[in-house]
Parts: sequence; C-alpha cells; structure tokens
Amino acid sequence: MNLKSFVRDINDFPKPGIVFKDITPLFNNAKALKTASEELVKLVNNHHVDKVVGMESRGFIFAPMLASQLNAGFVPVRKKGKLPYDTIGERYGLEYGTDELEIHVDAISPGERVLVHDDVLATGGTAAAVQKLIEKLGGEVVQCNFLITLEFLNGRDKLEGLEVASLMQY
Ligand code: 5GP
Repeated sequence: MNLKSFVRDINDFPKPGIVFKDITPLFNNAKALKTASEELVKLVNNHHVDKVVGMESRGFIFAPMLASQLNAGFVPVRKKGKLPYDTIGERYGLEYGTDELEIHVDAISPGERVLVHDDVLATGGTAAAVQKLIEKLGGEVVQCNFLITLEFLNGRDKLEGLEVASLMQY
C-alpha cells in the first residue's frame, strides 16, 4: 500500500510559503490507518521499550497505540501550562522566537527505555527538546520515529547519535 497517496500538500499553511503535509486523509482511510499502525510497530524492531512519549498534538494519535502494542506506558509532552501536575520544561527555537514543551516530573524513571513518536520530523527542534526532557529525567531514548521525515530540512542533524526511523521520506 502506498501510504504517500494518503498525504496531501497544503500550500501556504499555516503561513505563506510553507507547504504543509496534511496527514488527515491517512487517518480517514480505514486500510491506510491500519497499515500505518502496523508499519510503525514494525519500525521499532527489537527495541525493548518502557515508555512511549508522544508530542502534542498529532503525536498523540499514534503514540498510545504504539505503547499499547509494545506493552509500554504512554507519556504526553505538551506545550507550557497544559499539564496539571509538577513539570519540567525545555525551550526550543521556532522559525520566529521560541516555545516551551513540558513533561510531568514523574512520567519517566531513571534507566527507562523511551521511544519518541511524532507525526512529522521537520527541522528537528521539537524532537531535540523532547530528547532533553527525557534525559533530564534519566530516561534513555532508544528511537525517534515519525510518520514522515522532511529530509531536506536536516532534522536528523539535531538528533545526533539517536536512531531515527520513519514510514515516509520527502
Ligand atoms: P520541527 O520542530 O521538527 O521543525 O517541527 C516538527 C513539529 O511541527 C511536529 O510536531 C509536527 O507536528 C509539526 N510539523 C511541521 N511541519 C509539518 C508538516 O508539514 N505537516 C505536519 N502534519 N506537521 C508538521
């Protein structure tokens, strides 16, 4: 099944000049949704995983499925101010200015093996910030996986030393 046929380009979203990969057609199609879920699980290969971290908001779509399939727990990373309990935060650079991501202080225990999942790897700023949060809590990132990696933005360079895997590359 060609999953790329369920990804559409949206010009000038969310800002002029940006071509946004819209993955909602993939979620909308029953067969594509099932295939993507199964292929993501296969990407993890033989890694033992204790926790799957998903990033707000499109990382929340597949990360809990991955966690359930891998017999791991699910951990949400959210934008500043959204998580209810005690958090630690990490600032990261955006095209204009900075933003901050947070994780609950007790979400990961030292030594736990963590899989990071998001829908798209673009410049890598988001995933690199999440890696820092996990490592501050003593966790070890065993893989970062994505539905899509935008290879021309070189996001992998910000995840040096980490295993990066994706279902679709552009
Ligand atoms: P980065 O920090 O790697 O530059 O951006 C990655 C974050 O922005 C991800 O959380 C992802 O959801 C979002 N993102 C950036 N570009 C796209 C895109 O073209 N399509 C989608 N669906 N998300 C994107």
